[in-house]
Amino acid sequence: MRERACVREVGPRDGIQMVRTVLATERKLTWCRRAAKAGIREIEVTSFVPAKVVPQFGDAEAVARGAIALGGFTASALVPNLKGAARAIATGLPRINYVLSASEEHNLANVRRTTEESLADFGRIVALRNAAPGPRVTLGAGIATAFGCTIQGAVPEKRVIELAIRLAEAGADEVIVADTVGYGDPGQVRRIVGDITKAVGKLPVACHFHDTRGLGLANVTAAIEVGVRAFDASLAGLGGCPFAPGATGNIDTEDTVFLLEQLGFDTGVDLEALVALRHEVEAWLPGERFSGAIARAGLPKTYRRPGVAAP
Ligand code: ZN
Repeated sequence: MRERACVREVGPRDGIQMVRTVLATERKLTWCRRAAKAGIREIEVTSFVPAKVVPQFGDAEAVARGAIALGGFTASALVPNLKGAARAIATGLPRINYVLSASEEHNLANVRRTTEESLADFGRIVALRNAAPGPRVTLGAGIATAFGCTIQGAVPEKRVIELAIRLAEAGADEVIVADTVGYGDPGQVRRIVGDITKAVGKLPVACHFHDTRGLGLANVTAAIEVGVRAFDASLAGLGGCPFAPGATGNIDTEDTVFLLEQLGFDTGVDLEALVALRHEVEAWLPGERFSGAIARAGLPKTYRRPGVAAP
């Protein structure tokens, strides 16, 4: 039995928040359905930001409800504030992911409030979640710009660890350490994420890396070394942040699955099915930049397919 590792598709959220094409709701749901069929078990399907800020997510409620109806995977959504959380919980989503920035300046640019104000908001979201009727909603808490910031520059490592502890104490079910702008390197990951995993005890820690400067998969390997077993990734390496100029590209889902499988983990994902979906998504998004090596070069003959015993 190989140990499980989870690759979470964030393409329908992070992947498309900066693209020129507003995807039809049906296409977003096709993306989810086929990713789930390929074995992806968690998908961040949308973001509950105001539609006037990011028109791509004007259909957030419809996508969330459609994704829940599809079944077969855990659908989640990004929520930037209490209002977004209330909207997301009202759709019946089983999981929501809140995010604040360790960089004060990024937080101010992103949600127009200080990081401390965002922490207080998280407390209100926990209370809202706890009071909501129905099954308990899982609450992820993301720390953006955990490895540096395009606006502020350096972000104190102590501050990132302190935020992780405070989010955990406030009621997060998981801490997500995010390299929003692709500044992180494996040494930082071992230090910061390693300290966080020790500080939060049994609480799961996930990582969200961008491959802006080519270190995305190296950072995954470093995070694996300190015990992380869940990673956000986007099909075709799509992704970016409206307030982090040049910060394109989440780590590519296909390459991340390939890496984890080669490291001996069971992702449960059928890579060929995922690559086929990627090509379809590429066709929906004319003029965008895509990345990823597996889709370009193909799987090696030596690749061991999930469920197929090694010879
Ligand atoms: Zn991101």
